[in-house]
Amino acid sequence: MATTVEAPALKDEGPTGKSEISIHPPKRLLFGPGPSQVHPRVYQAMAQPVVGHLDAYFFQVSNGVQRMLRQVFGTENELTFVVSATGSGGMETAISNFVLPGMKVVSLANGFFCDRQSEMARRQGAELVRFEKPWGEVFGDEEAAAFIREQKPKVVMYVQAETSAGAFQRGEAICKAAHEVGALVIADCVTSLGAMPVEVDKTGIDIAYSCTQKGLSCPPGLSPITVSPRASEWLKARETPNRSWYFDIKLIADYLTVSHRYHHTASATMFYALHEGLTLIEEEGLAQRWERHRQAHLEFVKGVEALGLEMLVAPKDRIWNLNTPRVPQGVDEAKVRATLLKEHGIEIAGGFGPLAGKIFRVGVMGPLATKAHVREFLEAFGKALKS
Ligand code: PLP
Repeated sequence: MATTVEAPALKDEGPTGKSEISIHPPKRLLFGPGPSQVHPRVYQAMAQPVVGHLDAYFFQVSNGVQRMLRQVFGTENELTFVVSATGSGGMETAISNFVLPGMKVVSLANGFFCDRQSEMARRQGAELVRFEKPWGEVFGDEEAAAFIREQKPKVVMYVQAETSAGAFQRGEAICKAAHEVGALVIADCVTSLGAMPVEVDKTGIDIAYSCTQKGLSCPPGLSPITVSPRASEWLKARETPNRSWYFDIKLIADYLTVSHRYHHTASATMFYALHEGLTLIEEEGLAQRWERHRQAHLEFVKGVEALGLEMLVAPKDRIWNLNTPRVPQGVDEAKVRATLLKEHGIEIAGGFGPLAGKIFRVGVMGPLATKAHVREFLEAFGKALKS
């Protein structure tokens, strides 16, 4: 018996079929450490039709992303691409490709994400040596270099912008000492990229990874990564395959940049988002964007100090787009955050680990990094503190 199969009626509602969709998320102002406010143009880009992960158009978008990422990372590294994962996936990519069992790895540890790097290196079987500082402090050039020279590791890891505490770690001296002893440097640039100078080449970083949901004004979902020529050479010569198949740089880079053969089903939607986020940075100009974040940060510090709060981190070591004022004595920070969310739709975060209950973590990034938004925030924050 012949059967006819009717094509399902597909209504072309496009991205605006709002009334028909099943979810109605509240509108928040994302002043937390991430995700940060998504730029409206990024949402528009995400509503465009999905193409296949092997479509020529997809690779066109991916190439554009690679080109713009080089600019934002401050690098000429050929091997600059995107891992289909959040920032932790970038961390796992960096560590699983460049850390071998039994390898000596130095971790400069001054916060939660340094500890995560350490844990990942341990899981790769590294002989881990940690140089620790209290959260909120940074490593001085001389002490970091002396430690590296003394330990003579094969890999050095540090976090450029430590989100758990709000401290920015400069890397020039770390990279110089590491290179002197023949080590590669892995730097976590998850919170800094797109908001502060990352300067991979100038600093001397060999492997830098980031995320999409902070300084790039996109939702979470991708992890930009860049690999220096010396690290690429090391990887080429690596004799054992990466224990992680999904995060194997050789396989991912082959798919995205060389053969365009299937490795995994990359999300065209997220690539569109990142393309748009990076285009916005290109249009604004990277230096102007950094300056906008710096000015918004200074406005924040001025305002929060006028409310009687002190910043945790010393002025020269602060992350511009992630502020960590101390919680004033007698204030229940969880209540302040709950009030901000309930009454103003504003999300911020608190501290955790050794800083639990002691700091607020306020992200001022992307579209919200303006003096006007900071003033609006501070007004609501001041009210929430009083109440
Ligand atoms: N590294 C740093 C410095 C971070 O702030 C974060 C997340 O906030 C991560 C790594 C992990 O990124 P994700 O949560 O996107 O996996």
